[in-house]
Amino acid sequence: RAKESGRNSYHMYSEILHHELNQRMELMKRLRHAVEHHKLTVFYQPKVDMHSRRIIGAEALVRWIDDDGSIIGPDKFIPIAEDTGLIIPISEFVLRSACKQLAVWHSLGFKDLNMAVNLSGKQLQSPDLVAQIMAIVNETGIPASHLELELTEQVFIDNIQSHTNFMHAVRERGISLAIDDFGIGYSSLSYLKHFPVTALKIDRSFVQDLPHDKDDATLTQTIINLAKSLDIGLVAEGVETEDQVEFLLDRDCIIGQGFLFSRPIPADEFTRLLDEYQGQVPIQIM
Ligand code: C2E
Ligand code: MG
Ligand code: MG
Ligand code: MG
Repeated sequence: RAKESGRNSYHMYSEILHHELNQRMELMKRLRHAVEHHKLTVFYQPKVDMHSRRIIGAEALVRWIDDDGSIIGPDKFIPIAEDTGLIIPISEFVLRSACKQLAVWHSLGFKDLNMAVNLSGKQLQSPDLVAQIMAIVNETGIPASHLELELTEQVFIDNIQSHTNFMHAVRERGISLAIDDFGIGYSSLSYLKHFPVTALKIDRSFVQDLPHDKDDATLTQTIINLAKSLDIGLVAEGVETEDQVEFLLDRDCIIGQGFLFSRPIPADEFTRLLDEYQGQVPIQIM
């Protein structure tokens, strides 16, 4: 009996594996098709000076519009894109779209706006990434100083020479460099000294339960102190309540991003937001 159930569970396990593999293959095929048929688009989420409520920039966040019109988020397909190499054309598309869009907003008079684009560690292995980025910057005519690249902590922890070279090369060209989701990685903070980082983005898991959660309050304060003592910029992710704004402003964390101000939205909606409130986000009426 035991042998039999062992056999059965083996069969079940291999069936599940088989099923998962099939699903992955299917998703891969659909993603490749989506990339080739321009089914990807870029949404933008404002970064806000929480003191003045002025929009100081945008983060570009990729979306996949499925055939039925539903929107698939990056968490669903970026990992597969990384494994298949599709991350390369996807990233190029996002970067070009974002830079073009920034040029449009600058031309509409919102000259101080910055644009942030996410990069995955996988891309940093490509030796001509810097040249590719600069080609897009030049082609769209945006000032390099208004472009920021967001890299997750893992890229810094890995501490690969090519990563370090990449970071110095983009900084030399005036592009900013932020550490995304800061604080959740397994980090030895010493790496902050070795990389030319210009900003930390406090992961939203710390912000979520502010101001009530004492541990999160302490950790957030620590990250704020760290950024201050290193004299680098700071952005709080995932700001959803006015209480969180108050907590962060009290501690001198001025820039925030989150659903309180706006969800990620299509470019034309972002333009309307800029126009309607002269570059500010509307004050929420509670
Ligand atoms: P991220 O760079 O940390 O982006 C912030 C994520 O938090 C976004 O999810 C955004 O919609 C979400 N978010 C913003 N404000 C709030 C809030 O107040 N509450 C909550 N609960 N969530 C909030 P999204 O767009 O699903 O992106 C997920 C991740 O996918 C990004 O995290 C980024 O790591 C990655 N990603 C997005 N676009 C790209 C891309 O073009 N290239 C690469 N390599 N990765 C990307
Ligand atoms: Mg990001
Ligand atoms: Mg983040
Ligand atoms: Mg994240």
